[in-house]
Amino acid sequence: MKLPLPAATIGDIDTSFQQGRRANATTPAADPTGLESERGADYNRTMQRLCRLMAVSAAAALIAGCSVGGSAPGPPVIDPDRVLDLSYSLGPDTVYWPTAKRFELERVAYGHTEAGFFYAANNLCMAEHGGTHMDAPIHFAEGRATADRVPVAAGIGPAVVVDVRAQAADDPIYRVTVADLRAWEDANGPIPAGAIVVMFSGWGERWPDAARYLGTAQRGDVAHLRFPAFSAEAARFLVDEREVAALAVDTASIDHGPSQDFIVHQIVHGADKPAFENLANVDRLPPAGATIVALPLKVEGGSGAPARVIAILPP
Ligand SMILES: [Zn+2]
Repeated sequence: MKLPLPAATIGDIDTSFQQGRRANATTPAADPTGLESERGADYNRTMQRLCRLMAVSAAAALIAGCSVGGSAPGPPVIDPDRVLDLSYSLGPDTVYWPTAKRFELERVAYGHTEAGFFYAANNLCMAEHGGTHMDAPIHFAEGRATADRVPVAAGIGPAVVVDVRAQAADDPIYRVTVADLRAWEDANGPIPAGAIVVMFSGWGERWPDAARYLGTAQRGDVAHLRFPAFSAEAARFLVDEREVAALAVDTASIDHGPSQDFIVHQIVHGADKPAFENLANVDRLPPAGATIVALPLKVEGGSGAPARVIAILPP
């Protein structure tokens, strides 16, 4: 199965349904051309396909309000108990790269106005790459997509959560290997195309202690960065042989702390794929079965952007 809840399929269903409904609504009593009844047949086939899809996919049934066996689909319904926030809040404690501008909230207004109502508003300023965020392909690949041009569906896909806590506990600059990915596949089946592959290193326990999370809390100190990430071989395997949508990590970068060439970024972004960094609550994701929805700010020309990332957990 490609995606538990493929965005493309949802759009396809929706479009087909809308077209079918229009055709149905305009079907005349007498149809000398036969075209309208043909459209009516299309509509019926669409509805059969729609409910068949809903019936076979537990994940789809989770969020779609189709009454299987009934007549009309309802609007999508998401069970709030199955929504997991994978984002850190942005604030004074948010971990940023040692050289990056930290998050600033500038108060514009806060209090009761002369008109008698309460009013609050702020300006905010921050580096693109800090806290839970997306790296757009342009970050390390000239000519590739900027943040606003990354398709929104690129951040939506089945979560493949690769648990390397044991390896990272022994080696804080561990890099996920192809063997780790194959071990995941041995347990869960092939990594599906369109997956968002998440390294689960356990580093989330260290957030927001920069000294432990990054390896250094000193401004400007990039010489002592120490945290795990992906290996170049694993990145190539995922991009070339599994056609994943994106890589994601519960650390500050998809390249491990000491990296000088940022080769994983080069591979992933060179394939015009985004990455998601500093994911929170990864320990609450199952190895397979969740759907990630990552929504970065749509920054024109951005090399990345802060993102609200959530997962929809399986039933
Ligand atoms: Zn980044």
